[in-house]
Amino acid sequence: MSFGSQGEVAYHAYAEAAYRLNMISLNGEGGEIPDLFGKYPFNRGIQIASGRFGITAETINSNNLLEIKVGQGAKPGEGGHLPDRKVTQKVAAARHAHPGVDLISPSNNHDIYSIEDLAQFIEELKTINPKARVAVKVPVVPGIGIIAIGIAKADADIIYLTGYDGGTGAARQHSLRYVGLPAEIGVVEAHRALSESGLRGKVEIWADGGVRSGADVLKLMCLGANRVGFGTLPMVAIGCTICRDCQLGTCHTGITTQIETTEEATAAGLKHFVPRDFDQATQALVNLFSEIGEGIKDTLARLGIKRAQDIVGRSDLLMQISHYEQIDLNALLMPMDEYMAKPIPISLPMNEMAEIDRGPLHRPRNHLTTVISNLVMESFTTYRQDSILFEDDKVTPVDRALGTHLTGALTRFRHNWAWPPGHGGIGGHRETWRQPLDGIDTRSVPATALRFFSIPSPAMAWARIMPTRFISAWKGAHRMVLPRGFPADAL
Ligand code: SF4
Repeated sequence: MSFGSQGEVAYHAYAEAAYRLNMISLNGEGGEIPDLFGKYPFNRGIQIASGRFGITAETINSNNLLEIKVGQGAKPGEGGHLPDRKVTQKVAAARHAHPGVDLISPSNNHDIYSIEDLAQFIEELKTINPKARVAVKVPVVPGIGIIAIGIAKADADIIYLTGYDGGTGAARQHSLRYVGLPAEIGVVEAHRALSESGLRGKVEIWADGGVRSGADVLKLMCLGANRVGFGTLPMVAIGCTICRDCQLGTCHTGITTQIETTEEATAAGLKHFVPRDFDQATQALVNLFSEIGEGIKDTLARLGIKRAQDIVGRSDLLMQISHYEQIDLNALLMPMDEYMAKPIPISLPMNEMAEIDRGPLHRPRNHLTTVISNLVMESFTTYRQDSILFEDDKVTPVDRALGTHLTGALTRFRHNWAWPPGHGGIGGHRETWRQPLDGIDTRSVPATALRFFSIPSPAMAWARIMPTRFISAWKGAHRMVLPRGFPADAL
């Protein structure tokens, strides 16, 4: 859940509790509070929605999980909307926006029009942060199975299915009441479609939407989910009374408001305001999820199952126990073996694909940016050069994220985040790039042909110009000019 939709204490508490329990917390769309950059690299995910609020090379490299939000189950077809009254100075700073202005992420098909667009976006994210796993969050809609196949083919690592139930603090009433489908239907459809097409082993399925207990988690896993998310429940754990007034920005429990003290609340005319306490909130979350985890372990033990992942897709463990006259769940609960035994309309198992003659192998997409990045960083760190002549007459359109890898490398070099050895991509001397470097602004990601990142940053004009120059030097040598003083003076 985003900073802005949530107050700072609640936002920090979710991240800290996830870290203590070795879970994952996602930041929601809306940037990151700077003190969380790189603090929980393995327990934090960064969400990237079409508004791109706060999305920079820093945010993308501060964690190893990136989530592209195409839509949300509680409001499919609508973008995110943080009302102006919730955009305070701090929230605006995290989102690289102006205080008091509505922040709207347009519906995602404004910038991701096709699977090719999505594939390019995923490729760019993996180029600027080569260690990142990329999730694509989509609402459960009719045809979600074929959508899941497209996402897997676009090279996502995770398909995040989100059901209609939820809408933590931002969905409008009509969306909450009348649209969306249950997460369970989406999980079954995606699991079956991916299995049929031989792609299930390539991606994980994550799901959320109305999950309230360990039993709910296990049910979704039996239907095909690898991991399950919670939204409303953590809010309730730290004090939410489900009064559904989140969008007003005057939450009386201090969760979905930027009002932090009783004095501020009194000045705003708020009665009965109780601010959240970070330690208490964190402990409440730890208690809640520890109990849920114990319950899951207990159930698995009673079933004789050692690893939770072993129940993924085991719908044979589920049975309908009520409401027979209203709904027949047999089709939903059909075990995979039985389902796959039916005629499969479109099926191309991976072992058949191996026999297809693919012709000559070509250089991977965006390989050149990695090569340039490694050469540049090596020249900076080993040879202390501050300008480099790079010659190449093979720059082609497949190199359109040129400069992106270098921006990521500079960002990782500038910060001394606690990444394990090897972070930074193929080749080069990543571990020597850790020395903090002052005087260079790596806040913006170079624009690409599709301009997935567009936060202006004058100090990075050179980085945005660089790809253009490379492409204009299509068949000739080009002198790559880097900021004076970098890095020889700084090292
Ligand atoms: S108490 Fe009400 S306003 Fe506060 S988070 Fe819960 S539902 Fe939203």
